[in-house]
Amino acid sequence: MAEKYYISTAIAYTSSKPHIGNTYEAVLADAIARFKRLKGYDVYFQTGTDEHGIKIEEKAKEASISPKDYVDKIYLEIKNTWDLMNVSYDRFVRTTDSNHVGVVQHIFKKMYDQGDIYKGEYKGLYCTPCESFWTKSQLVDGKCPDCSREVSEQVEEAYFFRLSKYQDRLEKYIASHDDFIYPESRKNEMINNFIKPGLEDLCVSRTSVKWGIPVDFDPNHVVYVWLDALTNYITNIGYDVDNESFEFKKRWPADLHLVGKDIIRFHSIYWPCFLWSLGLELPKKIFGHPWLLMNSDKMSKSKGNVLYASSLVEQFGVDAIRYYLLHEIPFNSDGNITYDLIIERINSDLANVLGNLVQRTISMGNKYFAGKITNSKVSEDIDLAFIGSINNLEDVVTNKMDQLHVSDAITEIFNVLRRSNKYIDDTEPWVLAKSEDNKERLQTVLYNLLESIRICGVLLEPFLPDTSKEILSQINISDVSLEYVDNNIYNLCQPQPLFKRIDKIS
Ligand SMILES: [Zn+2]
Repeated sequence: MAEKYYISTAIAYTSSKPHIGNTYEAVLADAIARFKRLKGYDVYFQTGTDEHGIKIEEKAKEASISPKDYVDKIYLEIKNTWDLMNVSYDRFVRTTDSNHVGVVQHIFKKMYDQGDIYKGEYKGLYCTPCESFWTKSQLVDGKCPDCSREVSEQVEEAYFFRLSKYQDRLEKYIASHDDFIYPESRKNEMINNFIKPGLEDLCVSRTSVKWGIPVDFDPNHVVYVWLDALTNYITNIGYDVDNESFEFKKRWPADLHLVGKDIIRFHSIYWPCFLWSLGLELPKKIFGHPWLLMNSDKMSKSKGNVLYASSLVEQFGVDAIRYYLLHEIPFNSDGNITYDLIIERINSDLANVLGNLVQRTISMGNKYFAGKITNSKVSEDIDLAFIGSINNLEDVVTNKMDQLHVSDAITEIFNVLRRSNKYIDDTEPWVLAKSEDNKERLQTVLYNLLESIRICGVLLEPFLPDTSKEILSQINISDVSLEYVDNNIYNLCQPQPLFKRIDKIS
């Protein structure tokens, strides 16, 4: 039976339309999910929207509509954006969904009944935009450590979760599970900045907020948004407090929670303690990915430097933007996006390296053999290393993907594509074509190139799904095996350009 793989994105907050930086996470998760499917895993990929909280209450008020109408509208924009980007989620979840709401209430009650949640009074420093209470020691220059805005002192009756009870267990768990928080730099940040200074009990209800899940046994309170949001990973696969479904038992624990580096704290500190309180296993890995910057600056509406997937896709196409997002953002540091960089990548990598190789090879196949290529097996030494690199590619790419080095995985595929172009330069098919004696050698050369194109085409599917399909259809091959075979029969179609070169937009 296929091994299961459960991957999630963080659920996107429905306060405003997602910009390309928010979209990056869904595309990154999609590439990982698609790769796992290609490798034969039984993948479950969940994404969705986080729809409660005071920020939404305020936005809806500004727009003079109900919070539900407001989130319905933004939810659709987010879902449409994910669909536009070819994000192959298995389930798109919403925290306003009635099943989720009911299970969150059961979870809150269970934690209360067993003493993990108790009623008290909260005095604290609160950051409204982040909906987070902070302790003095967590502030940076007296301001919110997440958004650098002013915090204000607030008092309210509230329920608390006994986070402090789990301090030792969490510290030991993180120390003994190297893979849990990823990358390493984030793990150290969590331990040193948040866990070592001491975990304080967490306020998990609000009386000042109306737009949230009510605590059913004390309806003046709504459940704190993070307790509501984090549990989406279990409520939507059939978890309930005294009734775990077959699906839940099959899928949980999640294999990977992919989240922005700014919210890794909630996932690596609160979430484990909530799960322990419910007697559940922890997710295997939490990956805090870096951000996408615009001209080296954080995107924000107020700065007016926000790019949206819809307009980028209209200008450049889905796969060009997927390529950019997946290839240009390093694993461990922020990436940058500008129009000039997008155009440069399209022209140099997608049009020159990939597009040219496919078009040149198919054109030569049509010209010299009327599109019918089999392997006449007239090999030369130069073929060996080339075929070796083709045969190695799956392992090399898998290795990078296992480490979540998605950008490097793409680079490896493009290295083989570059090598294929070099193989054309070295073997000079147009010279071979001049003599009838070299016809068989010429056929083997083209055959080797088509094998490279086929394997790269299959391996590109997780990253550039439409392009992958187009490449395989142009060489008329449905075989998805990832090894060089010497007896394929190619019936080539007319080549169509995969990517057009783009002139600079001035
Ligand atoms: Zn803040």
